[in-house]
Amino acid sequence: MKKSQYIWYNGKFVNWDKATTHVLSHGLHYGSGIFEGIRAYSDNANAFIFRLEDHYSRFYNSGKVSLIKIPFSQKKLQEATVQLIKKNKLKNCYIRPLAFIGEGSIGINPGNNKVNVIIAAFEWGTYLEKNGIEHGIRAKISSFARMGVNSFMTKSKISGNYINSVFAKREAIQLGFDEAIMLDNDGYIAEGTGENIYIVRNNIIKTTPITTVLEGITRDCVIKIAKDNNIEVQEQKFTRDELYISDEVFLSGTAAEITPVREVDDRTIGNGKPGKITKLIQDEYSKIVSNKNPLYASWLTKV
Ligand code: PMP
Repeated sequence: MKKSQYIWYNGKFVNWDKATTHVLSHGLHYGSGIFEGIRAYSDNANAFIFRLEDHYSRFYNSGKVSLIKIPFSQKKLQEATVQLIKKNKLKNCYIRPLAFIGEGSIGINPGNNKVNVIIAAFEWGTYLEKNGIEHGIRAKISSFARMGVNSFMTKSKISGNYINSVFAKREAIQLGFDEAIMLDNDGYIAEGTGENIYIVRNNIIKTTPITTVLEGITRDCVIKIAKDNNIEVQEQKFTRDELYISDEVFLSGTAAEITPVREVDDRTIGNGKPGKITKLIQDEYSKIVSNKNPLYASWLTKV
């Protein structure tokens, strides 16, 4: 991550180093915040924010689910995001909106504590390393199950939810893997720590139904790209042994983009190289985000 000049904070552009909060902020203690992860890409001339409105719609849905009322309109935050990228003179960047409950009551009940909103935008390269995107990553089935739908709600990006991902990610890294894959409470494959997951068998893509996982915006892109290329997609539960014997495995997410998985729990996937369907989806995705496919131009917001 590379520091940029400004962060939008409750309606104002403040210097990066001045974007601070009180140590008794409720969100800091209890995870009572919601966030988004968005990327902007550039063709040679302009920056384009990818699926801006869809990300902010999910942000407001996260607010609804978690009862965190965002004190700005969606239109205002979308406009602020465009302005922020301009002011920071960014082209390819990652955008992180966050709304969190501030200080006041320090009990579990946040009472009328103010909800603060920030938007940060900064340069952030490949999430799972350039080598991973090109050649595939090594993943591990986590010893941590994905949080159950009746305790944490998976349709929302609630800050506190992510401690489950932090546990799984750290365990995988400590054991020498690049990423963790979590099972749901029934033992089926759920998702990565910040990515949706897919397997390919006999040229058919299978991905976890959205019941237990985040409704990834990149997941929606993968399904559309596959359909437009006459590749069948089944939204179905699958097990870890089906994953081990599949021809291809890949992950998708705004940060991770389309990342091939070449090994899971020391079992080589396919021939150990990114598979042909993975590569097709990856190539199409990278053309779409950088404004090289006019069919999907409606997903881009010019800065
Ligand atoms: N699952 C989880 C748990 C995530 O945090 C993310 C990243 N937002 C995803 C899936 C992928 O979602 P998206 O494609 O919208 O970034």
